Amino acid sequence: SNQMYITSMKGKQLFILEMSDFLMLRRFFEYYRPYKGLFFLDFTCAVLAGLLELAFPLAVNQFVDKLLPGQNWSLIFAACVVLLAIYTINTGMQYIVTYWGHMLGINIETDMRKKLFDHIQKLSFRFFDNNRTGHLMSRLSNDLMEIGEIAHHGPEDLFIAVMTLIGAFAMMLFINWKLALLTFLVIPFLLWLTILFNKKMTQAFRRLFSDIADFNAGVENSIGGIRVVQAFGNEEHEKAQFTVNNNRFRLTKLLSYKIMALNSSISYMLMRLVTLFVLLCGTWFVINNELTYGEFVGFVLLTNILFKPIEKINTVIELYPKGIAGFKRYIELLETEPDIADAPNAVEVGHLRGDIRFNGITFGYEGKDKVLQNIDLEIHPGETIAFVGPSGAGKTTLCSLLPRFYEVEEGSISIDGMDIREIKLSSLRKQIGIVQQDVFLFSGTIRENIAYGNLHASDSEIWEAARHAKLDDLIRSQPEGMDTIIGERGVKLSGGQKQRLAIARMFLKNPSILILDEATSALDTETELAIQQSLAELSKGRTTLIIAHRLATIKNADRIVVVTNQGIEEQGQHEELIESGGVYSRLHAAQFG
Ligand code: ADP
Ligand code: MG
Repeated sequence: SNQMYITSMKGKQLFILEMSDFLMLRRFFEYYRPYKGLFFLDFTCAVLAGLLELAFPLAVNQFVDKLLPGQNWSLIFAACVVLLAIYTINTGMQYIVTYWGHMLGINIETDMRKKLFDHIQKLSFRFFDNNRTGHLMSRLSNDLMEIGEIAHHGPEDLFIAVMTLIGAFAMMLFINWKLALLTFLVIPFLLWLTILFNKKMTQAFRRLFSDIADFNAGVENSIGGIRVVQAFGNEEHEKAQFTVNNNRFRLTKLLSYKIMALNSSISYMLMRLVTLFVLLCGTWFVINNELTYGEFVGFVLLTNILFKPIEKINTVIELYPKGIAGFKRYIELLETEPDIADAPNAVEVGHLRGDIRFNGITFGYEGKDKVLQNIDLEIHPGETIAFVGPSGAGKTTLCSLLPRFYEVEEGSISIDGMDIREIKLSSLRKQIGIVQQDVFLFSGTIRENIAYGNLHASDSEIWEAARHAKLDDLIRSQPEGMDTIIGERGVKLSGGQKQRLAIARMFLKNPSILILDEATSALDTETELAIQQSLAELSKGRTTLIIAHRLATIKNADRIVVVTNQGIEEQGQHEELIESGGVYSRLHAAQFG
């Protein structure tokens, strides 16, 4: 298997090192590359500070054995001045290690966050259909924060800890090898205990992470839908659900703190036991003239220095599972290949004429029955084609295959003779505009939302788009004009106004193919009629695909295509379809009596 276990005598697993962890670490260190200078500075200061700490017991040793008996005050003062200078330098280095070291961590965290965000932008509709927004937000914030922490503390602390440990050992051996060997007997026991807790921590943190993600997703859902919550008067239900999540989060966190507390208190106890042990043995050595007073004090100080790196190693081991769990989730997400991406030889297209062909296409959503099967359809440049049929027949699905929001399973779609898979996604989508029933507007100003159609548009172009969409009167009537804040998702606008904003945005985008997916279905008849005029203007000179529920709105389409669960039932002009007496004529009769 790809796991390596360090096992105890009884065969229990103590510390799991997965082989993939090593690969993960290698990938992790890639992120240090841009900050070699910073890392080097931080690392050097930390190592120097560690060495100076290590020199302190020796200084005290000399102080007690050499300076104290001599009682030469000028020498004693000189020694203190030297020590003061050393501590001052060390203070400066501590500052650098804390501030610049964390800077390193934060820089790495920021890079990772950017990389992940960029990657998420590339993922396809299918991915977002199956992943919760709150979970993704959790990955971007919480997970990466933990990783940033370990990025800073991990390698540096580990190195210094090992260095200090070896240094302190060496000095203890140098002072009195017998006493040193006696002390070392206890150390492996400390390390063993530390390792024992590591596994428990890993498990606790893995749970903690997924609980945080669930928690965030839950909050995102109920705050995002707060209007629905209040409209249904379901606040108590939401509160109850929140309490469940909140408590689970609390329990998991408590568990991890409990393990942490057990770990640190037990190792504290052990460390003090070692101190007592050294005091006892040391005293015996002093009484038997095997150790001077200075060496005794130096030795006790060294024993205490010994604990600090063990604690550090302990902390790194505590942080490590957190970091590695977060980093694994990060890499997992980063390695989620977008299932729809540019082919290597994809080409950029300029203006498309809009000659669209569906050639025997078949499509179904993940894990569901086929929605569309063997659909053949030709749409001519500049044609206005209307899709009608029962809800759930696949009209929206058919249209969403055109900008490659989803990929056809069989068959192909071509525009102007080119398979859409041969066209660069960005340039394909630039040429296709979609106006839907539920418009998504960004919280921000009217200007920002119109300009979303073309981020490079000038102010006059934005106004022209607003005029075309007949939104200019509204804008002028607002005290803030174009800079009016429309609220989250446009809550401060009426349905008709939102739709007009979406139309203005589309005028600015100026695509050659237009999809109107029940754009006016949610509006009252009067508003619908008014907006129909704007839509008619918008569709001028563009190949237009209209999905409509109310048949009155599509009477003038060049062609009407009736889509049912069986596929395309019939197509033709309004009169033809009425005459032939098929599905369309029945739908028409049902709506107009
Ligand atoms: P229409 O627009 O004709 O009302 P749709 O194309 O929206 O129909 O839906 C066709 C079928 O596909 C429906 O059964 C619907 O449940 C399903 N469907 C639509 N969108 C998704 C999706 N994102 N994931 C899974 N199934 C979907
Ligand atoms: Mg639909």
